[in-house]
Amino acid sequence: MNVLIFGSGQLARMMYLAGCPLGIYISAVDVNKEQVVNPVSKAPRSISLEQAIEDADAITAEFEHVPEHLLQMAHQSGKLKPSIEAILTGADRVREKLLLEKLGIANCSHRIITELVQLPDAVEALGEQLILKASRDGYDGYGQWRLKSESDLPTIEEELAKLDLQQVPLIAEKMLKFDRELSLVGTRSESGVFEFYPLVENRHHQGQLHLTIAPATNVSDTLNTQAQAAFKKLGDELNYVGVLAVEFFQIGEQLLVNEIAPRVHNSGHWSMQGSDTCQFENHLRAVCNLPIGQTTTNCVTGMVNIIGIGQFSRDMLTIPGSHLHWYGKEPRAKRKLGHFNLTANSYQELGERLDALTKYLPKDDFPLLADAIAELKSIQ
Ligand code: ADP
Ligand code: MG
Repeated sequence: MNVLIFGSGQLARMMYLAGCPLGIYISAVDVNKEQVVNPVSKAPRSISLEQAIEDADAITAEFEHVPEHLLQMAHQSGKLKPSIEAILTGADRVREKLLLEKLGIANCSHRIITELVQLPDAVEALGEQLILKASRDGYDGYGQWRLKSESDLPTIEEELAKLDLQQVPLIAEKMLKFDRELSLVGTRSESGVFEFYPLVENRHHQGQLHLTIAPATNVSDTLNTQAQAAFKKLGDELNYVGVLAVEFFQIGEQLLVNEIAPRVHNSGHWSMQGSDTCQFENHLRAVCNLPIGQTTTNCVTGMVNIIGIGQFSRDMLTIPGSHLHWYGKEPRAKRKLGHFNLTANSYQELGERLDALTKYLPKDDFPLLADAIAELKSIQ
């Protein structure tokens, strides 16, 4: 089978690797050059985009910010999964919020800003601590501005004056004091059957995911039920096919949806070692209309993103349960270059293994590890 993926970064690469054993052959589209490439070597394939679309049994995307004319091409072929509507919803925070509201899914209090004069009203309604998010093209905390107090308004307004808010509105969100961030990654099949990975905990630094703990600790039935109910409503409404990720803020026993990602997700990378079938394989199975694989999880896994640093010893591979996934990209500040997956039999053991990992890594580049290690080690 042939699958064509729009986007040629690490997610396409990991889908390629997961597809090999299944005999699924993957090509990727470099959406800037509009060129068909091999997602591992990045070598261009001597085939036109039109031909690759023709040859594909299924077409999917590794990220939601694919230029719309390319998505339309994929859509016209009738092979795009998830649908263009699902991808465009994930790409646009305004569409996403409207959908959450329509479905009655709890989310963060917000206002849609199409003119700067609406900002003081947003402060009035939501409080003076706000996050302003560009409705399109933001990721990893880019395209966001934080208002810490009303006195920041003039500076922020000056910066935002450069933007065309009619074209790309902002979402003003209340800055939440949440207990933690969780996400639910799951698959919906062509016939509407859901398969979920466990809820996982995600820890961010400067708007970027640094660490996932899978499964999350202390997940009550109430949390699981809320998360799966929100996921199912979204999946059914979008008639979704493939892997979907839903990010949540946990406040007490309540979950608020932060955002959705219509694709495989960084908070699902742990599943490469931690689950019976990883998210990349399950996404391919879904878009190729093959049976979805089990998501049984018999260990705990820590997923540590490698951000910005290209040089480190591979001796960490001596740690039991440790795995390195390197994406083959040029190192650059704040760029995700790879990740470690560490599996263990208990949270305590995971704490010990993460602690062993830190011996091989520059501390400043992994600022969240020390606290997580102390917490995990203290779990009985
Ligand atoms: P991205 O598309 O960059 O992942 P998010 O909306 O998920 O954008 O924001 C990135 C991170 O910023 C979140 O994971 C969270 O840590 C923090 N954040 C986002 N929105 C809020 C909010 N309303 N209150 C507090 N923190 C937030
Ligand atoms: Mg996010």
